[in-house]
Amino acid sequence: MTTIASALLHPTTNLRSAAQSGPLVFAHGKGVRIFDREGRDFIEGLSGLWCTALGHGDEELAEAAARQLRDLSYATLFAGKAHEGALDLADRLVAMAPFDAARVFFGQSGSDANDTQIKLVRHYNNLIGRPGKKKIIALDRGYHGVTIGAASLTGLAGFHREWDLPIPGILRARCPYAYLEAHAGEDEDAFTARLVAELEAMIVAEGPETIAAMIAEPVLGAGGVVIPPRGYFAQVRQVLDRHDILLIADEVITGFGRTGEAFGSQTMGLRPDTMTLAKALSSGYVPISAVLLPQQIYQAFEDASATLGVFAHGYTYSGHPLATAIALKTLDIYRERDIFGQAQRMAPVFARHLQALADHPLIGEARSVGMIGALQIVRDRKTRALYDPADGVGAWCADTAGIRHGVLFRATFDTLCFAPPLVISEAELDEMFARVRAALDDALEWLTARGLA
Ligand code: PLP
Repeated sequence: MTTIASALLHPTTNLRSAAQSGPLVFAHGKGVRIFDREGRDFIEGLSGLWCTALGHGDEELAEAAARQLRDLSYATLFAGKAHEGALDLADRLVAMAPFDAARVFFGQSGSDANDTQIKLVRHYNNLIGRPGKKKIIALDRGYHGVTIGAASLTGLAGFHREWDLPIPGILRARCPYAYLEAHAGEDEDAFTARLVAELEAMIVAEGPETIAAMIAEPVLGAGGVVIPPRGYFAQVRQVLDRHDILLIADEVITGFGRTGEAFGSQTMGLRPDTMTLAKALSSGYVPISAVLLPQQIYQAFEDASATLGVFAHGYTYSGHPLATAIALKTLDIYRERDIFGQAQRMAPVFARHLQALADHPLIGEARSVGMIGALQIVRDRKTRALYDPADGVGAWCADTAGIRHGVLFRATFDTLCFAPPLVISEAELDEMFARVRAALDDALEWLTARGLA
């Protein structure tokens, strides 16, 4: 019997464990810290869910929100209407984009934005007379959200089994995760060459005339902070170009300074055709997402209006005035406080702390780029053998030991993922990683007591 503490159905949660332990209830936050209702403090090792780049309680953002709610609480963008904030934000994003973006469509979440990507790719190919070119390639371990379309793109089995997903037309490519996927003796270049050859073989076998696009995160976040080998995306792009396949960059985590540059695509050498943004677009303060499109795709939609009438896609809350106001203020703050520069300056400190933990008996690899990184737990550091997922080692580290020691991070299987707020200081990073080390030491004791270490 479990006690029902509340009617809340927790998203993305082991519901049995949560019912037994009861929720960790947060009450307030300031900077990189969040406090529970008993007043215990936790360092935000994952910026909430990879989103609160500016930390909690930024006064300028709070004031911008209050002002906007008083001035204009709601305005639709349907039927050719607009408000200043939506117009300005679209222009700002186009100006910032690291590719030839021309138009911006607003949504609420990364998931609905990636659903929009699927729909727009289909719509575009229908309009230009290629109705058979619809399939989308996505990476194993990629994470693109949980709506029916986005969950289908997501390459993690738990999001498919028992949900009647994926939808038809999704092709899966091998994850560019050298540490676990490279063959013995295969260096990064050879590994990349193998993956790219496999990708092209799949495209040829399926028929390039049936494949519309490939979607990828520049750094795979929720799949375990997988940093593709340098050169991977450039070679992938060559293959896609040969077969007239679009490349969609899912920058929901990597956008806005996370990798040390404005966009992860720049850091990872990914040249996209379209882009998905969310999370740090508003520093996580309000829900907003954006899909950035090139002129060529937009033009097909505009031309089709002559015969179809309405471009029949949009949400009540597309470009909500509160969301666009917060996003605009967030972009101002990124520039005025040189937040991307700050991320670049803190990246070596972050990397040094992660590398220091690579010697821990539980850890096989530490990796990072900019301010996103991971520790890979292995059962055997020499053979890189993993623990049985049923042992729940990663989850125990994050959800029991991490919480006990006042640091929040997430485990994807046995990969511990970190992405602290970009405003974190060196002293706060020192404190955060002291807590992480204490959590790992606890986990080692826990495993030893169970005869697993
Ligand atoms: N794409 C990526 C890369 C993500 O990391 C996420 C969420 O973590 C999503 C899409 C889905 O975003 P949301 O949870 O806002 O629907």
